[in-house]
Formats: sequence, C-alpha cells, structure tokens
Amino acid sequence: MNDKKIPFSKQELESIAEKFPTPFHIYDEQGMRDYAKSFVAAFDWNPGFKEFYAIKSAPNPFLMKILRSEGFGIDCSSMAELVLAERIGMKGEEIMFTSNDTPAAEYKKAIELGAIINLDDVAHIKYLEEQAGLPELICFRYNPGALKEGNAIIGHPEEAKYGFTREQLFEGYRMLRDRGIKRFGIHTMVASNELNPDYFVETAQILFELIVELNRELGIRFEFANLGGGIGIPYKPEQEPVDLVRMSKGIREAYEHYIVANGLDPLKIYFESGRAITGPFGFLVSRVLHIKNTYKKYAGLDASMANLMRPALYGSYHHITVLGKEENPSRFMYDVTGSLCENNDKFAINRVLPKMSPGDLVVIHDTGAHGHAMGFNYNGKLRSAELLKRVDGSVDLIRRAETLEDYFSTLDFGRVGNYPV
Ligand SMILES: *Cc1c(COP(=O)(O)O)cnc(C)c1O
Repeated sequence: MNDKKIPFSKQELESIAEKFPTPFHIYDEQGMRDYAKSFVAAFDWNPGFKEFYAIKSAPNPFLMKILRSEGFGIDCSSMAELVLAERIGMKGEEIMFTSNDTPAAEYKKAIELGAIINLDDVAHIKYLEEQAGLPELICFRYNPGALKEGNAIIGHPEEAKYGFTREQLFEGYRMLRDRGIKRFGIHTMVASNELNPDYFVETAQILFELIVELNRELGIRFEFANLGGGIGIPYKPEQEPVDLVRMSKGIREAYEHYIVANGLDPLKIYFESGRAITGPFGFLVSRVLHIKNTYKKYAGLDASMANLMRPALYGSYHHITVLGKEENPSRFMYDVTGSLCENNDKFAINRVLPKMSPGDLVVIHDTGAHGHAMGFNYNGKLRSAELLKRVDGSVDLIRRAETLEDYFSTLDFGRVGNYPV
C-alpha cells in the first residue's frame, strides 16, 4: 500500500489558493528531481544512458528546464513540441523526434534542429529524403506485432498503428545502409502505464536480439536502443511504483547476454518516458462548489474534465484527498463532478470519501502527466494556471490561467457587428 501523500499542508495550499484562484495544477520540483535522479542512477552502468522526457505529458518549458538540468533530453512528436524545445535552447541529439503520420514541415523542423529522427514507417524513408533530406543518424520504430502482449491503454501491438514490421525493419535498414547512412538506432514502445518491471526487461530483450540479427545480416552497428515510454505510476493506493533498480538489473543481464556477448557494446540505452517523470508530482487543486443530493450524492467542484480528462476518457482512477479531512471517516459515497454539460464530467464515481462541504479544498492526485496537457475549452472552460513548488518551498506561476480574452482571441467580433445576415 502506498499512502498517496501530498507534499503540501492544508494551510500551505489555502494560502496558495488565496493568491492563485482554484482550480490549478501544482507541481512539486523536489519530487520530480528526486525521481529523475533515481532514474539516471539506476542506469549508471550504461555509458550514454539518456531519458528523453515525452513533453506531451506536461508541455511546460519550466518543467522541461528542470528535467534538462537533471540530464534529460526531450521527446517530441509535433511541430509545437519541437518549437518548445527550440525556444528553451534545446537542439541536436538531446531531441528525439518520435512521430507518426508526420507532415513534411515537422520533418523539416526536426532536421533543422538536428534532432534524432525516429521513423514510424518504411515508406517515410523516401518521404523524409524528398522533403527534408536524410540525416546522418536515423532510428526506426519497431512494432513486434503478436510477439508481444499488449495492455489496456495501448492495446495489442498488432492492432497498434505504430511502427515497422520485422520484415520492414530489415528492408529499411538495408536501404539506409545502401545510401551510405552509418549511424543507427532502434526503438520500440509497446506499453503504456505498465507497472510490471519485467515487461520492460522483455522489451529490451526483444530489441537486443534484433540488434544482433540486424548486425549479422546487414553488418550495421547500433548506437542506441530506445525502449520508449510506458512506465506506469501507482494511481491507486494499493499499487506500487515500478522498481527501477530491478528493471535496470534485468535489462543489464539482457545487455550482457546479447550485446556484450556479441561484441556489440557499447550500446546506449534510451527511454522516452513521460507519465512516470511528472505524473505523480502534479496535483489538481480545486474547491467544492456545491453538494447535491438527488438519486445520488454529488460533490461539484470548480474544476471539470477540461482540467483533467483521464477519468472521462479512460475511466481512470485518480485518488482524491479532501484537505484537512484526511483523518475523518470515509462514510459517504459521492460522484465527484465538474460543471460541463456532459454527464461523463466526473472525476470519480461512487467514491467513498469523508463528508464534504462547499468550500472544501480537494486535491486530485497524479495529474502531472496528461492533466493540464489534455485540457480543452469545451463549454467555454478556460485552461487553468500551472504552479510550481520550488525546492526552497516558494511557489511560482509557470503558466498563467487563460482569460476570456484569450478564449475569444481567434474571433473577430468587429466583423460580426457588420455581418450581413
Ligand atoms: C506518449 C509517448 C511516450 C511517453 O509515454 P509514457 O507512457 O508517458 O511514458 C513516449 N514515446 C512516444 C512515442 C509516445 O507517444
């Protein structure tokens, strides 16, 4: 059992909420840094090890800057994500560009920044060459198909739209070798929110074995194996985080067995995790607006699924703490809702919680990945602020809340005035 602690006291959050109105997401720098350090330390045996933070999880440049200072690169998959990297001065091989169904302009930008290009499809070799030119280092995304079981979020690999088949990998690397490319990487990502460390060991085994076969057949050497993201987090109190040390030990054994034994070391191990890096260190803070008793009990918050879409999208569990009532008996069953005109705008259904009252501060846990990032404006909901609790305890606004002016900024009301109807 992990006891879902919050790195803030009630008093602290009340005083933060006086300055920054709820709802907001707040991130804990200390927690993020500690986790980042433990990730890097777990792989200290592998020279060149690097984690590329999947920026889609929480695309905030302040968070990225902190992670970069811990040695992380950035994993991008869109124009905006590439430009975010560029604007904070990231370039070259600290950027991994893992995209799919990619527009030419994004390949051009990635090439311009010197990013590592991770191709999703064998047909993109020609497309990239024509649109942006081939880089000197290139990586392919492998989809092992029925070789690997899937999980609930990402589904079965053979049903997933991503990556090359095994035959296409051999064909693709051969094509690149014949065009004179000399630097190669390989990538796969077949899990999402996976809590079993052995799953990542198995993924490494699959890639390492392939590297040996590709080397034998094509005579090419690989610089890195990118094991993707997918490291899960314990959203529920009864779940445990992935044991990074155990995972690393298993990957090291596979590395010795396949890579070292075949004279293919050194090979850099890369990850592009997102969820595990910031997810547990972000919290959505909201206030109870109304308690409603009809056929069920409803606790209506000032946040909505526009601030956190995961429960409505996947039925995901997010732990909820009613601040200052942690020790009260949990005796009431609530649907915890937002105000969208959508009946699935619920953070929790039939959740047993302490008795709640209007004005209570509520903390929704593990919103540091795919929380603010998945926000949207339906029903005219404005995107919330993002705050950062610094290591020294101070709190900093790292993204202001949207205003109505922001919301209306793409409309021309002047023209509506004279619009002939
Ligand atoms: C989403 C994504 C990641 C990060 O996945 P997590 O589950 O957040 O670790 C990494 N790589 C790619 C290509 C992704 O789409």
